[in-house]
Amino acid sequence: MNILMFRPKPSAETIGLQHLMVVEPLELEILSALKREHDTAMIIDLIIEKRSFISFVKEHQPDVICLTGYITNVSTILEYCRATKKISQKIVTIIGGVHCEVCPEDFDDPSVDYRAVRNAAQVFTPLLNHIEKGTELPAGVFQPADTLENTSLPALDFRIPFPDRDAVARYRHKYFYIFHKRVALIKTSFGCPYQCNFCFCRVITKGAYAQRPMNDIIQELQSINETEIYIVDDDFLVDKKWLKSFFTELRSRNIRKHYLVYGRADFIAKNPDIMHEFAQLGLRTVIVGFESFSDKELDAYNKNTSVEMYRETMAVLNREKIDVFATIIIPFYWDRGDFKNMVGVVKSLGIHFVNLQPLTPLPKTEVSFPPEQIIIDKTDYDKWDLAHVSVQPTKLSVAEFYEEILKSYSAILYSPSVLWKYLTTYSPGMLFKMLVGGCRVTQQYKQKINEARKNA
Ligand code: SF4
Repeated sequence: MNILMFRPKPSAETIGLQHLMVVEPLELEILSALKREHDTAMIIDLIIEKRSFISFVKEHQPDVICLTGYITNVSTILEYCRATKKISQKIVTIIGGVHCEVCPEDFDDPSVDYRAVRNAAQVFTPLLNHIEKGTELPAGVFQPADTLENTSLPALDFRIPFPDRDAVARYRHKYFYIFHKRVALIKTSFGCPYQCNFCFCRVITKGAYAQRPMNDIIQELQSINETEIYIVDDDFLVDKKWLKSFFTELRSRNIRKHYLVYGRADFIAKNPDIMHEFAQLGLRTVIVGFESFSDKELDAYNKNTSVEMYRETMAVLNREKIDVFATIIIPFYWDRGDFKNMVGVVKSLGIHFVNLQPLTPLPKTEVSFPPEQIIIDKTDYDKWDLAHVSVQPTKLSVAEFYEEILKSYSAILYSPSVLWKYLTTYSPGMLFKMLVGGCRVTQQYKQKINEARKNA
């Protein structure tokens, strides 16, 4: 069969990171690796392509199209499926990705034939057989009207093949992540053993945590041409023993790459020896969910960390010259003083890059609010981007809340010492790209401020 796999274009409404990062569509590369010998599959990255979705469908006349995405892509994906069915009812549409796994009901639409809800890597090939030869529909795939309530799902199975990276060969040089150019992705584990109550990642794996076999990880790593490696595990810094065996393999096989990983502040603070070893082996940047600089808030998020610990975390990272990208949650009850205090602590800790996320009750997480407090409609999917204000602020107006977020970004990202660091560390090309991306995000926030003022 002729299969087209699409990564959707983000909506113009969605604020954020797409201006500062575009990384390879790993999940589509995994599906591409699972096609059968007689299938042809092509991945089309609509974040990079200038052409429209429809033009590709008309040109290639596929038998099957596959689409994956996040909550912010739901409306676009449905639009694509409806447009596909208008071209030909015979083209089979398959939806997958993390949002489809957790909220398949959002894709229950006459234009969607199949939804991969559990173990996509195990069900994709049998699903192709089902479509072509009428074999049994694999468990874990929904047809229209199937729901989580009326359909039983198989147990979680985290095995994945090596991604078909050649399928995006023509795009690879364009993939980058905030100051890191030509970045490749690898996944070494699934889920996270912690229980932060706002976290969507742990809902995807139902709280389970599983590591891939070390031999597979190393073999895959060796097959990647890029030097910059973004390990997209929910939390890479979990298991000391496992990390030690990873380091041993890196050393014995003389693998020299640079790594960008997610890690918890408590692990970093408690394991300076591991962080030192990893820094020697190429760790360059850690994305750390600090979330808050108030112990009361950290407890409310069930984060299991403390503000005191964060000083040690930053001492370790600064000592090892490991960059940190910090995520911070902005709760709806903050006033101007709380924003000011946060900026002060961020600066005093030596954090130079932050992602400020208004507290967002993502579906099926443990964070929820009464409907009257929610100011974004559930079906305005493109606004559920962890950058829009979704809960009515109680001490500021919505416009003021956005203004404070924007002011905080400026105070942190454009302080003289941080600007000097950018200028002396990164290439002019990368600086220009980040400047353009930063300006676009600023424009989006200014638009939000204006909209909120008009609606007040
Ligand atoms: S440590 Fe990170 S990935 Fe794990 S539950 Fe908390 S926020 Fe989610």
